[in-house]
Formats: sequence, C-alpha cells, structure tokens
Amino acid sequence: ASGLREMAVETPDVGWEDIGGLDDVKNELAETIQGPIMHPEEYNVFGMSPSRGVLFYGPPGCGKTLIAKAVAKECGVNFISVKGPELLNQWFGESEANVRDLFDKARAAAPCVIFFDEIDSIAKSRGSSEGGAGAASDRVINQLLTEMDGIGPKKKIFIIAATNRPDVIDPALTRPGRLDQLIYIPLPDESSRLAILRASLRRTPCGKDVNLEYIARMTEDFSGADLAEICQRACKLAIRERVAERKKFEEERRERAKDGLILSNDSFMP
Ligand code: ATP
Repeated sequence: ASGLREMAVETPDVGWEDIGGLDDVKNELAETIQGPIMHPEEYNVFGMSPSRGVLFYGPPGCGKTLIAKAVAKECGVNFISVKGPELLNQWFGESEANVRDLFDKARAAAPCVIFFDEIDSIAKSRGSSEGGAGAASDRVINQLLTEMDGIGPKKKIFIIAATNRPDVIDPALTRPGRLDQLIYIPLPDESSRLAILRASLRRTPCGKDVNLEYIARMTEDFSGADLAEICQRACKLAIRERVAERKKFEEERRERAKDGLILSNDSFMP
C-alpha cells in the first residue's frame, strides 16, 4: 500500500543495437556490471565489496534510460525502474518505507537492475535542504544508504542512478562500494547522431533519397530524443501520404467501375 504503482518489474526489450553511439559507455558497462551482477563472489576472494552501481549524468534525452534497460537485457536480468519523486511522500516515515519497499521488491526480483531516475530529488546533500524538509530528506538518504550497504555480497542487485545534477548529490552516495562510478552520457556528436538515426529507423523502410548523413550533419545540439522525434514525425507524414494515396486510388477505381471499365475486384495498390 505504498502507492508505488509505477515500480513494476520488467524484462526490458531494448538491446545494445537499439542505442546509437555511446560505444565507450557500452563497453565500460558490460565490464563494470557483468562483474558485480554475474560474479559477485569473485570480489570476496579479493577482499573487496562489489560496486553497488553507477551514476549516470548528462543532458536529458541522451539515452540514460535506454542504456539502463539494455544493460538489464544484455545481462538477462530483471529491471525495476523508479523516479526519485515517486518515492517521496508527505507523511512521516512514508518515504523511507517506500525506499524499503523498493529494495524488498528488488531482492525478490534478483538478479536485477534498479534504475533510479532523477535521484537528485531524494539524494541532495544532507543538511542542504532548506526549511522543514531537511530532516525528512536526510532520513530518506540514510535509508537509501542503509539499503545499499545491506544488499550483501551475494545478492545480484545492481543500481543505475541518473541525474542532470551530479553536483548536488550527497557524496556519501558515491563512495566506493556504492554508486562508485560516475558516467557521463553526452549529447551525441555527428557520427553518434547518424548511429542514432540508423538505430531509430532499424525497422522502417526508407526511400533511397533519404540522406541520413546530411540530417546528422545538420542537427548539431540535437539530443537522441530530438532525433527519434524527427524519425517519428517523418513516419507519420509518410503514413498520412499513403493513406491519402490509397483513398484517391480507391475513389478512381469506383469511378471507373461506375463507367463499367472494371468488372472484378482487380484493385492494385503499389
Ligand atoms: P531523461 O534525462 O529525460 O530521463 P534520458 O537520458 O533517460 O532522458 P532516454 O529516455 O534514454 O533519455 O531517451 C529518450 C528517447 O530518446 C528514447 O526513448 C529514444 O527514442 C531516444 N534516444 C535517446 N538517446 C538515444 C540513443 N543514443 N540511441 C537511440 N535512441 C535514443
């Protein structure tokens, strides 16, 4: 009854091939996460606690959520996604209870990746919030740290947190053994934009005159989300055009049928 309805366990359907660019990030993550999630016991041998996760930061719409999903899919584990503000509740103790519920759910779904979007909303430096909210948000962070440290070396739970504001995150959260790797997800450069366009159009038939290289060159400062939107709009226009063409074709056919030029249902639409 925590009101965390968004917190469903999923098996994501996004793979590396759906993500354009970001090759370094993909390679690095495959290694960073394969370790703790697939072979946590190895860390014991070396007297280390495995990393609990990574913190993604960077401008919006550049693939943080996509990568988190793809990581879960590539490792063949469950995926739980939650946005920081969803955990916050005005009632005393409820936010901490939500954090506890989240980790209970993750333990039940292990091996799994928890994707924690907008983590800054609950993990701002302790003592930094103004007014009465301070003590409450300090308790939420403390709960989060307790849960992270309590996962234990055997549980295969990996946390990917995301923020646009890495500068306000409580440093306790990024200590070794917690979210100890900070990974920047940048705006795509020209070759990444081309890769994103290609990934977005992977299942779309394109005309021969569609010049993706040109579009990639002309879209400086566009995010991955902006590029995906361009592709979506183009598809909508193409659909509209086809529907109009089909209508016109059928109208003409009816006209010809009226004139007795067509007897059977010999419609042909290219
Ligand atoms: P936010 O900070 O707003 O949560 P985000 O970085 O998590 O953003 P995503 O949700 O991963 O961004 O991306 C939004 C949409 O943009 C994706 O669903 C996808 O369509 C497109 N997109 C973004 N980056 C890429 C990429 N590198 N390759 C392919 N598609 C991308």
